[in-house]
Amino acid sequence: YFITVEGGEGVGKSSNLGFIESWLREAGKDVVMTREPGGTALGEKIRELLLDAGQNNMMVDTELLLMFAARAQHLEEVIKPALAEDRWVVCDRFTDATYAYQGGGRGVDFQRIAQLEQWAQGNLRPDLTLLLDMPVQQGLQRAGRRSAPDRFEREQQHFFERVRETYLIRARQEPGRFRVIDAAPALEQVQQQITAVLSVLI
Ligand code: C5P
Repeated sequence: YFITVEGGEGVGKSSNLGFIESWLREAGKDVVMTREPGGTALGEKIRELLLDAGQNNMMVDTELLLMFAARAQHLEEVIKPALAEDRWVVCDRFTDATYAYQGGGRGVDFQRIAQLEQWAQGNLRPDLTLLLDMPVQQGLQRAGRRSAPDRFEREQQHFFERVRETYLIRARQEPGRFRVIDAAPALEQVQQQITAVLSVLI
């Protein structure tokens, strides 16, 4: 089973991923936790390039192709082998993040992303995508405590508004795969929503 977790800045993705991991393990599932960009030794090096705030001349297509380069490695090295062994893969961001950030945020044509998606993934898609959603302003305030912003964290609010909007549109287009979690309330209430979604699966 392939689960991805998505959301904008400061939505509490990390704490909720920890919660999802322990919840599934307690339910007796064999869980592989991974992330994008990254998830492999090579992918983590690509991630460093992508997030490096010093890389202030990276072209949009370079960014897009690096995301998919990391993803291609991740799919072959980690995701597909784990799924083939019937393990549960929980991935912190996946291709929906490319639609949201490179597409919505940076303005890459969605059709182009769809072509790369088809090329790198064939028909492989997540079985379930949890979208942690909250107003951008609120997320940025929560994330604001981070000291050294990476290339993406330095973006302005309107960039993140487009990211959020793109995620929400995708969730509406694929209601069978997406579950939108209201990430604004207290963590406990967010986790109740997540539990409700996961309970149906096991
Ligand atoms: O999940 P995390 O916040 O650690 O992700 C690292 C950064 O990579 C994020 O700031 C996100 O904006 C960015 N990212 C992206 N496009 C993707 C995946 C992640 O811009 N496809």
